[in-house]
Amino acid sequence: MIDLDLSDEQQLLEQSVREWGAREVAPRIRELDRQHRFDPAILPQMAQLGLLGCSVPEEYGGAGMDYISLGLASEELEYIDTSLRVIMSVHAGLNCLTLLTWGTDDQKRRYLVPQAQGTKIATYGLTEPAAGSDVRGIQTVAVKRGDRYVLSGEKMWISLADVADNFLVFAWTDMEKKRQRDTSGISAFILERSFKGFSSGTLKEKWGILAGNTGFFKMEEVEVPEENLVGRPGEGFKIAMFALDQGRYTVAAGATGLIRACRDASSAYAKERKTFGVPIAEHQLVKEMIAQMESDYQTSRLLWMRAGFLKNRGRRNTRETGLAKWFSTVASERAAGDAVQVHGANGYSDEYPVGRFYRNCKGAVIYEGTREIHKLMQADYVLGYRADRPTRCELPAITKG
Ligand SMILES: Cc1cc2nc3c(=O)[nH]c(=O)nc-3n(C[C@H](O)[C@H](O)[C@H](O)COP(=O)(O)OP(=O)(O)OC[C@H]3O[C@@H](n4cnc5c(N)ncnc54)[C@H](O)[C@@H]3O)c2cc1C
Repeated sequence: MIDLDLSDEQQLLEQSVREWGAREVAPRIRELDRQHRFDPAILPQMAQLGLLGCSVPEEYGGAGMDYISLGLASEELEYIDTSLRVIMSVHAGLNCLTLLTWGTDDQKRRYLVPQAQGTKIATYGLTEPAAGSDVRGIQTVAVKRGDRYVLSGEKMWISLADVADNFLVFAWTDMEKKRQRDTSGISAFILERSFKGFSSGTLKEKWGILAGNTGFFKMEEVEVPEENLVGRPGEGFKIAMFALDQGRYTVAAGATGLIRACRDASSAYAKERKTFGVPIAEHQLVKEMIAQMESDYQTSRLLWMRAGFLKNRGRRNTRETGLAKWFSTVASERAAGDAVQVHGANGYSDEYPVGRFYRNCKGAVIYEGTREIHKLMQADYVLGYRADRPTRCELPAITKG
C-alpha cells in the first residue's frame, strides 16, 4: 500500500528545507548565478539540516531519514536552485548511498561517516572527455602494483570536481576486457583529493547551473591503496549503475521542484501582467501553459514517490527511478520553456528567475542518463529485452518515515 500522506517527520523536513532555502539562499541566488560562483558556506548549513547524510543510518553519521525524505529535500532544494540539488545528487545520492551499500566496514568508517556528517564532501567520476553514455569507452586504467592500484586518466563534467574531498572513480582493471569492451573489467575506487598525482579544475564555459561547481580531474599515476577498491574487482560497472539509481532519484525529485518553481513564478506573474485590458492569466492559452505545469508537477511527484516507496522497502527500482527521471526532466524543460513564454520579454531577462530555470533544467536532460538512453531503457523493459534482477548488494530498506 502506498501512503501518500507525509509523516510528521517528513513534513518537518520539507518545511525546514523550504524555510532555510527561502531565508539563506533565495535572496542571493541571482548574484551567485550571475557571478558563476559556488558558495562553499552552503555546505555546512546543509550538513546542519542533516541533508548531506540524509538517508544514511545514524550509526554511520547520517540523519537516518527514509528515501521519501531524500526526495522531498531534493525537490525543495531545486525549487530554490538546481545547484543545491546537484550537491544532494552527487554527494548524498551517487556517493554516500553507494558506499553505504557496497562499501566495506572500514570504508564506511573512514569515508562514509565524515561524508554523512558533512565534514568531507564527495562526488562521482564516471564521465570522461570521450565517454559519457557509452561507459565502455572510458580510458582510465588502474594497474595493480603490490598492495596498491595505480590510476591514470581524466574525468570530465564532474559536479563538485573542484570542491569535493573524496571521489568515487571508475577505471579498467582488466586490460583484455577493456579491449573487448566487456564491462566486467571495470572496477570502482575511492580517491582522496590529497592523493599524489590528483589534480582538478573548474569548467568555465558552462552556461547553466552557474551557482554550482562543475569540472574535471586528472589522475597521473595516482597510487590508491587496495583497501579503497569498492566491491570486488570487476564490479565497477554494476556499482556505477547502482549509484545512478540513487542519483537519478534525486534528479527526478529535483526536476519536480523546478517544475513547481516554474508554475509558481508563472501564476504569480500571470495575475499581475495585463494585456488587452485583463491579466494575462485570463487568456486561455496562458492558462493552458499553467495547467500543463500543474499536470507535469503532480505526475512527476507521483513517479518519484513510487520509486521512493520501492527504495524504502529495499526493492530494486531501476525501472521506476529511470522513468521518473526521464519524465520529470523532460517535463521540467517544457515547464521552464513555458515559464519564459508566460513572462514574455521579461522572461528573457535575468531580472526574473525563469531565465535561470530555463538554463538550469537542460543539464538534467543530459546527465545521469540522457533522454535518449532513458527512452531506450524504458522501451527495452516493455519489450522484454531488459529486466531488473536483484544484485549482490541492495540499498538497505528503511521503514521509518
Ligand atoms: C552539468 C553537468 C554535470 C555533470 N555531472 C557529472 C558527474 O558528477 N559525474 C559524471 O560522471 N558525469 C557527469 N556529467 C556528465 C554526464 O553524465 C554526461 O554528459 C552524460 O552521460 C552524456 O554523455 P555525453 O555528454 O558524453 O554525451 P554522449 O554520450 O556523447 O551523447 C551525445 C548525444 O547522443 C545521444 N546518444 C548517445 N548514445 C546513444 C544511443 N545509443 N542511442 C541514441 N542516442 C544516443 C545522447 O542521448 C546525446 O543526445 C555531467 C554533465 C553535465 C552537463
